[in-house]
Amino acid sequence: MNASQTHHDVVVIGAGFSGLTAARELGEAGKDVLVLEARDRIGGSTWYRTDLLGGVGLEMGGTWIVPQQTHVWGEVERYGVPIQDSVLPERMTWSAGGKVLDSLLPCTPAEYGDLEHAVRQLLAAGDRLDYTRPLSEQGLEDLDVSIEEWADNVGLKGNARELLISWFCGCANAHESSGSALDIIRWCASMDNSLWGMVQASVLGFTFTDGTKSLADAMLADVRGEVRLSSPVRSVRQGADGVAIAYDGGEVTADRVLVTVPIGVLKDIAWEPALPADKLAASQENHAGQGQKVWALARNVPEDISGYGWGTSFDYVGAMHESEQGTVLVCFAPEHDRVDASDLADVQRAVREYCPEAEVVDAAAHDWVHDEFSYGTWATFRAGQFGKYEAALGRPEGRVHFTGSHTATRWRAFIDGAIESGKRGAAEVLDA
Ligand SMILES: Cc1cc2nc3c(=O)[nH]c(=O)nc-3n(C[C@H](O)[C@H](O)[C@H](O)COP(=O)(O)OP(=O)(O)OC[C@H]3O[C@@H](n4cnc5c(N)ncnc54)[C@H](O)[C@@H]3O)c2cc1C
Repeated sequence: MNASQTHHDVVVIGAGFSGLTAARELGEAGKDVLVLEARDRIGGSTWYRTDLLGGVGLEMGGTWIVPQQTHVWGEVERYGVPIQDSVLPERMTWSAGGKVLDSLLPCTPAEYGDLEHAVRQLLAAGDRLDYTRPLSEQGLEDLDVSIEEWADNVGLKGNARELLISWFCGCANAHESSGSALDIIRWCASMDNSLWGMVQASVLGFTFTDGTKSLADAMLADVRGEVRLSSPVRSVRQGADGVAIAYDGGEVTADRVLVTVPIGVLKDIAWEPALPADKLAASQENHAGQGQKVWALARNVPEDISGYGWGTSFDYVGAMHESEQGTVLVCFAPEHDRVDASDLADVQRAVREYCPEAEVVDAAAHDWVHDEFSYGTWATFRAGQFGKYEAALGRPEGRVHFTGSHTATRWRAFIDGAIESGKRGAAEVLDA
């Protein structure tokens, strides 16, 4: 392909893992592919940075993978990208409203019955899901309710209720009133209905030794076609003979287009014909993943801390690295404005709910929620969105195909789901 070429077999919009996968598969099948990426980098919702907190290497976005995520695992094996397992902490830390509990389990023996009930309810719900099929086809409407409604419906009580809600919110990166309980129960089901597996899939799985960038770069090297950075797409117009795509920098045409942008971004692109009502509504509502991931460099904290909390600003605080300056902590909050990541005193206040002696000396975060190319962190559905939008989001519209981790089945909203969806999208285009 030469630089002035303006017609392509396929234009892929977005160079996250979904777009890279689709572009590679289409190129391998002999198609002439152009990828248009809005940002000045590939990787999308994954972003490995080595210029922060003393250069220790931080994942601002997607981080953990597990062997049950067969698509990403297959890519890791294909390219021989190094990964490492999490070092398990000696004990878990529990914070109830900022008071660190001095107990092995998150409640006293008087509440063990409540805890057992909560675990049973989660496993019973998980057992109902077939993760190989769309969940909206499985009569699971009673689970596609908010996290707090589900907790009430199944009679969770006391600290067990608070813990489970907070943990679900941590997995969802969403508030208990908005995130769909079904989307989190899916995590458990996807780990073959294992509670421990669900913990691994959240923050105790494997990480990329050289960052998620190592896999994205390996896949990019296999893309037979151009990836044009800093090229946000503004309009997609379908005609009888093909599709015209206008982006900052020019206009190209294609036989087919594959759109991988996050849900909230769809509404910002001008579509001709107009985006169908269900896709537009999904984009306007957006998903529930509107929380925070904050990195903190702290002293006076246990070097293997792994803490869950309820009634706290962060719902999870865990140690990831040791450096000469202190312990590097990864922290999550279910709302984007719980903690001011630019204010060390505020980050320290939130970390002290888990480690009362902590001294935070540096912090870093990316504001995914207000980033115009994401509008959120990971794509946890809001309560009720499975029924309304699961099928709609991945449905092709004429010559335009839609992928992205939010359209995946088993591991939607994960790196694995992005790769799964990219393969599905490429196959759809090739079939067409
Ligand atoms: C804070 C955070 C933590 C996470 N943790 C994990 C984790 O531990 N494990 C895990 O598996 N997953 C995790 N995820 C989710 C995972 O990163 C995503 O599900 C996955 O990377 C999404 O890939 P994608 O290709 O579908 O979308 P994206 O990666 O979002 O790619 C879409 C691409 O489209 C581009 N784009 C947007 N608009 C336009 C436009 N108009 N024109 C052209 N290009 C455009 C974007 O710049 C982006 O590159 C996390 C995500 C975040 C944000």
